[in-house]
Amino acid sequence: MHQALLFRQLSDDVVYFGNETALDAAQAAQLAARGIRVIDGRVTGLAIDRDRLAGVRLADGGVVPRAVVAVGARMVARGGFLGGLGLRASVHPSGMGEHIPVDAAGRTEVPGVWAAGNVADLSAQVGAAAAAGAFAAAQINADLVAEEARLAAETIARR
Ligand SMILES: Cc1cc2nc3c(=O)[nH]c(=O)nc-3n(C[C@H](O)[C@H](O)[C@H](O)COP(=O)(O)OP(=O)(O)OC[C@H]3O[C@@H](n4cnc5c(N)ncnc54)[C@H](O)[C@@H]3O)c2cc1C
Repeated sequence: MHQALLFRQLSDDVVYFGNETALDAAQAAQLAARGIRVIDGRVTGLAIDRDRLAGVRLADGGVVPRAVVAVGARMVARGGFLGGLGLRASVHPSGMGEHIPVDAAGRTEVPGVWAAGNVADLSAQVGAAAAAGAFAAAQINADLVAEEARLAAETIARR
């Protein structure tokens, strides 16, 4: 839905293939208002003519002529290697995919583990990903400094 509206910025000839997913009334009204045609049927493949895309093939045998097709892919952070630390990817609130949730400083739910960049923020571009990494690094250093000071004070208190 979101991507169909984005593509409408680039072309006034956009078709939304629902592939049997239902739109709610508000979404249908928005697509209609932007002149985006909605096709509900199940998509079974692409029609190819002489090695070029000719259209989108539907389960009823019909072909909707199209010059370009874009698929709404999900973004899933490749965070499986964090499973050993007790971290699991969860569904991003936007519905765009799965990520490792962090707080504003990059802290994960596992104490001592931070995450930054696309693994945490699926839509971060290079600037935001790098900034989150730098901020998390500063927070990690602050955490280590605080722990060092706490342990030093405890050592002195025990003497
Ligand atoms: C098609 C596309 C176009 C984009 N265009 C732009 C653009 O024009 N401008 C812009 O600012 N941003 C753009 N971005 C976004 C940009 O790529 C990201 O913001 C940025 O790469 C995020 O950096 P990152 O370090 O968080 O993740 P990544 O760059 O994805 O780095 C993660 C790294 O970890 C590695 N890795 C994964 N698992 C493991 C493991 N188990 N062990 C060791 N290494 C591992 C991966 O191989 C990868 O190298 C684009 C992204 C895409 C997909």
